[in-house]
Amino acid sequence: MRTLGILGGMSWESTALYYRLLNEGIRQRCGGLHSAPLVLHSVDFAAIAAQQRAGEWDAAGRQLAAAAGGLERAGAGALLLATNTMHKVAPTIAAGTRIPLLHIGDAIGRALAADGWRRALLLGTGFTMREAFLRDYLHRRHGIEVLVPETKARAEIDRVIFQELCLGRFTEAARAFYLEVLARGRKAGAEAAILGCTEIGLLLDGASSPLPLVDSAAEHVRMGLDWMLEAAGGS
Ligand code: GLU
Repeated sequence: MRTLGILGGMSWESTALYYRLLNEGIRQRCGGLHSAPLVLHSVDFAAIAAQQRAGEWDAAGRQLAAAAGGLERAGAGALLLATNTMHKVAPTIAAGTRIPLLHIGDAIGRALAADGWRRALLLGTGFTMREAFLRDYLHRRHGIEVLVPETKARAEIDRVIFQELCLGRFTEAARAFYLEVLARGRKAGAEAAILGCTEIGLLLDGASSPLPLVDSAAEHVRMGLDWMLEAAGGS
C-alpha cells in the first residue's frame, strides 16, 4: 500500500470523516487488521477562514503549499486536500511539492460521469458556489453543466457551513432547508446534486433527498483509496 497525505483541519469535522472513511475503505478492501497508511497535516481553521474572508488567498495557498512539502518529506506519495474551497489555490499547493494532488474536482466529475449525469446542482461555501474554480474545472475537464442556488439561498447555505457544520452542529432546521434547496434544484433541471463542501455529507443522507447526491468527501476518499492500492492492482 502507498502512503497518502491529508491536508486537513478545514474543518476537522470533515477531516475526521476522511480519516474514518479511509480506514474503513482499507479494511473493506484488504481485510484483517489492515488500516490506511496516512500522514496528516491539520491546520488551525480559524486562521484559514480569516484569510478566506480577507481575500488573502495567496498567503493561505503559500501556507498550505509549505504543509504539502512537509507531507511529502514525511513520506506521503500523493495528497488529498480535504476541502473544496481551498482548491481555489490548488495550483499553488501543487507547486509546493513533487507528489500529485488528487483534485477533488476529478473525484466529483468521475462520480457524476459514472452515473451519466451531466447537469448538477452545486452546494458548497459561498466561495465555491459563486466563484469559477470548481465549476469551471468540472465543466472543462468533465463536461458537467453546474447549476447553483440563487443568491439568498447561497448565503444561508454558507452561513450553515461556517456557523454550524464546521462547529459540529447538525440541526433539523438546516437539514430541512438544504432539502428544500435540492427540491428547487431538481425543478430547475438538475439531475444530481454535488455536496461540494466536505461537511455537508454529515448533515444529509441520500435517503430523504429529492436528488441523487454526489458527496465530495466520500468520492475524494474513494479516489485516495484507489491511489493507495493502485500498485496492488487497484480495485
Ligand atoms: N470543508 C469545506 C469545503 O469543502 C469548507 C471549509 C473551507 O472553507 O475550507 O469547502
